[in-house]
Amino acid sequence: MGTDRQGGSPGRGAVARTPPRRLSFEFFPPKTDRGRANLLRTARRLRQGGGDAAEFCSVTYGAGGSTRTGTFEAVRALREGGINAVPHLSWGADPAAAVRKVLARYRELGVDRIVALRGDIPSGVGPRSRMHHAVDLVRLVRETEDHRFRIEVAAYPEVHPDAPSPEADLDYLKEKVDAGADGCITQYFYHPESYFYFVDRCRARGIDARIVPGIMPITNYEGLIRFSDACGADIPRWIRLRLEAYRDDEASLRAFGTDVVTRLCERLLDNGAPGLHFYTLNKAPPTLAIAGNLGLAGNAAD
Ligand SMILES: Cc1cc2nc3c(=O)[nH]c(=O)nc-3n(C[C@H](O)[C@H](O)[C@H](O)COP(=O)(O)OP(=O)(O)OC[C@H]3O[C@@H](n4cnc5c(N)ncnc54)[C@H](O)[C@@H]3O)c2cc1C
Repeated sequence: MGTDRQGGSPGRGAVARTPPRRLSFEFFPPKTDRGRANLLRTARRLRQGGGDAAEFCSVTYGAGGSTRTGTFEAVRALREGGINAVPHLSWGADPAAAVRKVLARYRELGVDRIVALRGDIPSGVGPRSRMHHAVDLVRLVRETEDHRFRIEVAAYPEVHPDAPSPEADLDYLKEKVDAGADGCITQYFYHPESYFYFVDRCRARGIDARIVPGIMPITNYEGLIRFSDACGADIPRWIRLRLEAYRDDEASLRAFGTDVVTRLCERLLDNGAPGLHFYTLNKAPPTLAIAGNLGLAGNAAD
């Protein structure tokens, strides 16, 4: 459990950039037939584009279980299409037996990894205390399924918005790893130093699990600002101002976004990040453009 070691601050334990130890791609469950047809095509392009480094595709789980069926069906469709798809899962307020049943269904599909989360709190839901924390799900998975699933958990270099303090957030992350999580995937960020500092703090705290940075390609101004404000990801002023300037010029915004995120990924990989987890928003081109710039993309044609 949690034995993959990696470097922290630049200059300490830096590793070669290519090949990275892993690339993964996150999707949300599509709601329409068109979206479903597109999902497999997109996943295949990314899988191909990631070459040998592509490790898995993951499918998110809607707040409060709102995509319970959608997530399962998307994972199943992707796996039937030859993609190593894995689910995100949160316990929410369901009975433990229902969660165990979901785990058993995934096991029947051949799934061997899950991303275990508390999940976002659905609007209109009562007190937060009713939601199980991610650590509870990690424990439930380990009790129920022992080590048949590799477990990834979420980590927050810029501190989770609900955390009482940065140190408490680290303590809770350690609790998740101690409970049996094998690896961490971070919330996205645009300050590379926030990741390196975070990895150093984790190592100092005895968290030795692999910590893969989450990467959000920049393709849209309003959506990025809104989402970042909600999840506590900081958009540096110099990025925010340029995105604002390119608001009505999609081509320039995308070119700028690709450049900025490519540079971020270069710094991360050059200084020890063990791979990259892309928040694809179900689109292949932005992620493929970055992977191409990094020299990671293979033949990604349909
Ligand atoms: C890689 C990644 C994938 C994601 N996928 C999804 C998804 O599919 N669906 C979705 O809805 N959201 C998703 N999210 C968002 C995530 O669910 C939210 O950030 C959510 O608010 C926290 O989830 P968590 O698993 O980090 O929760 P937790 O680890 O439970 O932490 C939540 C908050 O509670 C605190 N905390 C943790 N444990 C305890 C404890 N025992 N006692 C008291 N406080 C505690 C933490 O400091 C933190 O502030 C994802 C995030 C990441 C980084």
